[in-house]
Amino acid sequence: MDNTLIRSENAVIQEPIVIDESSYKIKVRAEIALNSISDAVICTDIDCNIDYMNIAAEKITGWPRDEAFGKPVNRIFNIINGITRKPAFDPVGLVLQIDKPRVLAPNTVLIKRDGTEVEIEDSTSPIHDEKEKLTGVVIVFHDVSATKAMAKKMEHAAQHDFLTTLPNRMLLNDRIEQAIAFASRHHTQLAVLFLDLDNFKHINDSLGHAAGDKLLQSVAKRLQHCVRVSDTVSRQGGDEFVILLAESKNEDAALTAQKILVDLLALHEIDKNQLHITTSIGISVYPADGTDAETLLKSADTAMYCAKEKGRNNYQFFTAQMNTRATERLVIENNLRLALNHQQFILHYQPIVNLTTGKITGAEALLRWQNSELSEVSPETFLPVAIDSGLMVPIGRWVLRQACKQAKAWQDKGLPAISIAINISAQEFLHKDFVEDVKAVLVETRLAAEYLELEFTEPVLMRDTDCSTQILQQLKEMGVKLAVEDFGTGCSSLSHLQRFPIDVLKIDQSFVQSIKSAKDDGFIVSAIISMGNSLKLKVIAEGIETTHQLDFLTARQCEEGQGHFYSRPIDAESFTLLLSKNHILVANNQLMDILV
Ligand code: C2E
Ligand code: MG
Repeated sequence: MDNTLIRSENAVIQEPIVIDESSYKIKVRAEIALNSISDAVICTDIDCNIDYMNIAAEKITGWPRDEAFGKPVNRIFNIINGITRKPAFDPVGLVLQIDKPRVLAPNTVLIKRDGTEVEIEDSTSPIHDEKEKLTGVVIVFHDVSATKAMAKKMEHAAQHDFLTTLPNRMLLNDRIEQAIAFASRHHTQLAVLFLDLDNFKHINDSLGHAAGDKLLQSVAKRLQHCVRVSDTVSRQGGDEFVILLAESKNEDAALTAQKILVDLLALHEIDKNQLHITTSIGISVYPADGTDAETLLKSADTAMYCAKEKGRNNYQFFTAQMNTRATERLVIENNLRLALNHQQFILHYQPIVNLTTGKITGAEALLRWQNSELSEVSPETFLPVAIDSGLMVPIGRWVLRQACKQAKAWQDKGLPAISIAINISAQEFLHKDFVEDVKAVLVETRLAAEYLELEFTEPVLMRDTDCSTQILQQLKEMGVKLAVEDFGTGCSSLSHLQRFPIDVLKIDQSFVQSIKSAKDDGFIVSAIISMGNSLKLKVIAEGIETTHQLDFLTARQCEEGQGHFYSRPIDAESFTLLLSKNHILVANNQLMDILV
C-alpha cells in the first residue's frame, strides 16, 4: 500500500482516502491500526492484484500475506452466493468500473484456501491517490457465520418448544394458516388434532417434574412417528399437543388418532420406571369446523373435552352441538365463581341407617346449588366444572365447615349424636393444607372428630398410595373416621386397602341396584360385604331402593345402608324434624309420615 493510507471507521470504508506521502510515521500507525482490528482488509491495485492484506484477512482467507501479494484478488477473495452456489458478482471489477463504494449481496460465502467456507459481509471502496486518480480498491469484510448461526438459533427458539424441540404454538398457527390457504385453493381438507394427556399431573406430582419432562419428550417422539413428514406435531405447553394433518380427510384423521392411542399405550421407560400414559384427542376438520387457525384449534379443543368425558384414551370429532355444551359449561363456570359469595350453596342430608334396627346412625352431606338464573344443576354437572376451574377447594372447605356446624347444632339441640359423612374430591385431598383445614374446622365448630367421616373414592386414594396413606394416617390420628366409597368400581388392590387406615367400605349403588331379588346371587355385593367384615370394616350399602335389596343385604350381614328406600337427601330443617320425631326409619313412606 505504497503511498496509500487507509482510514477505517468501524472497519467500513466510507470514501476514497487521502494520501500523505511524506509521513512515514502515519504509515506505520496505519499499519498497526489495520492489524489490530478484527475486520479483514484487502487492497488491490488498478489491475485487481493484491497489494495489501491485514492479519485478519490472512486468518479468514487462509492465505499468508507473502503468498497473496501480487496475486489476482479473486483467487484469494474467492466468493460465491451461498444459496445458488454460483460465483458472486465481482465487487472489485465493479468498484473500479463505477468508482463508488459497494456492499456485497446477502448470503455471500468466502471459500477459504483450504476449501472451507465462511459467510461474510463486506464493503468495497475505490482508492484514489493525491491527484484523485483511481489506483485500486479496498475490501473490508468480516465473518458473519457466528452471528447468522445465533440469529438462526434465536429464530428456532422463538418458534419451537425448548423441552421437546417441537414447533410451538406460534409456528403451528403459521403452518395451519398456510395449510388453510393451500386447502382453500385446491378444495381439499385438513385436520387439527388436539391432544391432552390423561392424568399427567399425577405423574408430575408423584414422580417429580424431571420425570414428567422426560415423559413429555418420549410422547413427543412417539407422536412424530405417527404422522407423515408433511404434518406438524406441536406442543402447546403443559401436557397439550396439537397435530396438523395437512391434506387430510375425516377417515385419515380417525386412523391417525387410532394409531396415536395405540402407540402411546406402550410403556415409556423413564428413569427405570415403566410409565403408562393415555391421551384424549379432539379433532376438527377444515372447512366444516372452522376456516381459520383459531376456530379450528378451539373446535378441536372442545372436542377433546368431550373425548375426556367419554372416558379418556379416546378420540372425538367436533360437532356443532359441542359448542352449545361448551357455552353451557362457561355459563356454569361464571355463575359458580359467584355462588360462594352469594350464599347459593346449601347442603342436603341423606340418612344412613342401621339395616337391622332402622336407627339413623349418620347423614351424608350432599351439596346443592340454588341459582335463580340456571335451572336445577346437579352436583354431577357443576362439580366437574368446579374442579376444572380451581373452585373445588374453597367449595369443599365451605361444605366441611357447614356440615360440621350442622352436626354440632343437632347435638347441641339434644338430638341423637350421629356421624356426618362428607365427600372429598381429589383436589381437596391433595391440597397441602387439607389436614390442617380439617383440624381447624373441628376446633372452630367444636365437633368431636369421631363424628366426622370423610369419604374418598378409590381413584383418589390410588393416585399416590404412599402419599394417601400418610394423609389418612394423620386424619386417623385426629380421630376422624375414613370411608372408601364407590367401592368395587375402581381398581384398588386388597393389599392397599389393608394398608390404608380406613374404617368404612361403601358399596357402590350400581352393585346394590343390580340385586334383583333376595335370592339373587349378587356375587360382587356378597364378596364386598364378607371382605369388609373380615377386615373389620363397617360396610355401608349405597342406593338401596327396594325391599329385596334390603333383605339381601341384611341376610349377608351388611351393617348399614342409605338410599331412596329410606329417604332421599333432604334439607337441614327436614332432617332436624326427622331426628327429633323419631330416628328409627323403616321405609320411605314412614319418612313421609314423619315429615308431614
Ligand atoms: P355419592 O357420594 O355417591 O352420593 C350419593 C349420590 O347418590 C347422591 O347424588 C344421592 O342423591 C344419590 N342417591 C342416594 N340414594 C340413592 C338411591 O337410592 N338411588 C339413586 N339412584 N341415587 C341415590 P348427588 O347428591 O347427586 O351427588 C352425586 C355425587 O356428587 C356424589 O356421589 C358425590 O360424589 C358428589 N358430591 C355431592 N356433594 C358433594 C360435596 O359436597 N363434595 C364433593 N367433593 N362431592 C360431592
Ligand atoms: Mg358419598
